[in-house]
Amino acid sequence: MSTPASRGAAATPALRDERSSELYRRALDVMPGGVNSPVRAMRAIGRDPLFIVRGEGAELLDVDGNRYVDYVCSWGPLIHGHAHPEILAAVLAAAERGTTFGAPTEAEVELAAEVARRMPAVPMLRMTSSGTEATMSALRVARAATGRDAIVKFAGAYHGHVDGLLAQAGSGLATQAIPASAGVPAAAAAATTVVPWNDPDALVAALRERPPAAIVAEPYPANMGLVPPQPGFLALLREQADAAGALLVFDEVISGFRVSPGGAQELEGVTPDLTILGKVIGGGLPAAAYGGRRDLMELVAPAGDVYQAGTLSGNPLAVAAGLAALRMLDEPAYLRLATMTERLAEDLRRAAGMRAVQVQHVPGLLTVFFSEEPVRSYADAAACDLDAYAAWCRGLLARGVYAPASQFEAWFPSLAHTEEQLIATVEAAAGAFADLAAG
Ligand SMILES: *Cc1c(COP(=O)(O)O)cnc(C)c1O
Repeated sequence: MSTPASRGAAATPALRDERSSELYRRALDVMPGGVNSPVRAMRAIGRDPLFIVRGEGAELLDVDGNRYVDYVCSWGPLIHGHAHPEILAAVLAAAERGTTFGAPTEAEVELAAEVARRMPAVPMLRMTSSGTEATMSALRVARAATGRDAIVKFAGAYHGHVDGLLAQAGSGLATQAIPASAGVPAAAAAATTVVPWNDPDALVAALRERPPAAIVAEPYPANMGLVPPQPGFLALLREQADAAGALLVFDEVISGFRVSPGGAQELEGVTPDLTILGKVIGGGLPAAAYGGRRDLMELVAPAGDVYQAGTLSGNPLAVAAGLAALRMLDEPAYLRLATMTERLAEDLRRAAGMRAVQVQHVPGLLTVFFSEEPVRSYADAAACDLDAYAAWCRGLLARGVYAPASQFEAWFPSLAHTEEQLIATVEAAAGAFADLAAG
């Protein structure tokens, strides 16, 4: 396979993008910022977006005919790569029987049972169409269960564009340096306490000052770049939530079904009260879920009086894709993904040479931070050399590697990435690092 990466690191190759540029001009006229979700615009790396025509395994093909090894993989859902034949077959078979009924189907029961089998803390769940909806609904349950309104979240964590959680959120917002979104009611933001990640004292103080309905955390935060918990920090969340009479809500939209069969809660041995799922659970189609303790989930209508609904929730296509994706994710698959991530992290570190770079990883996720020191919080992530990341990332694109167009994101290696593609990636990385040194 020949990617632009195999041309080597002599000079920064130019990326031909005339057709993408033309489409972007048209898009700007009819869509805000030319995109349907902010980070796609690539503003954080100082270029215009590339328009994609197809994905094959771990490769993307753009409208100008450029091929890339893809480490975005739709920001998490595509753990099996693009257009996996078994997922396609499952979706096509489901579509032939009807795309949506507004009535229950057998596959929904099977998907919920598959999740329960993998995550003992999720014996019961409710499906939604997006992670944002799932978070919003989980918080409603937590508030109903505790009779409290306040929520504690961590700086740099992203839980979807839920009103009350857009305070100091990561990802697109951090990238654009918007402290909180316009249009969020002051009352919604006021109910949220934002605590620095990996800061036990700040957490304890926040809980004492205003006992919340829930502590919401990504157990492996991946929306400020990947910033794993310090040893003991997740256990502290569990202990402190109990002491404060609050629920512990793990947002495993990214980590669930990526880092292990049962998510970060399995790897870390910390059991949340409620879990938010998304991305991999939809197999590349729109699906998400929230679930957890039976007594809590039975508060949800029609079993209980917490109202939440969705026309396309648990729709047959997404459920078929999700089930097909999960059924291929056995222990050997996770072992392979974990080994691949570990090696890629090591090779990228080596490619960086003497440059001050931190490659942080957990199974299936990594981030390259341009920093002298390990990144432990959002403040650390924000203090990195973002211009260097941007230039490096443009160098990767020009060499056929499609990495997240922001340092405040994780790379998503997939089971479709081949040995050759990994080697080409590291070569491209070395070339892009060399450009920085030269420039
Ligand atoms: C992507 C993401 C969400 C939001 O999911 P959407 O389907 O985009 O609404 C929530 N939490 C985390 C941790 C995410 O990465």
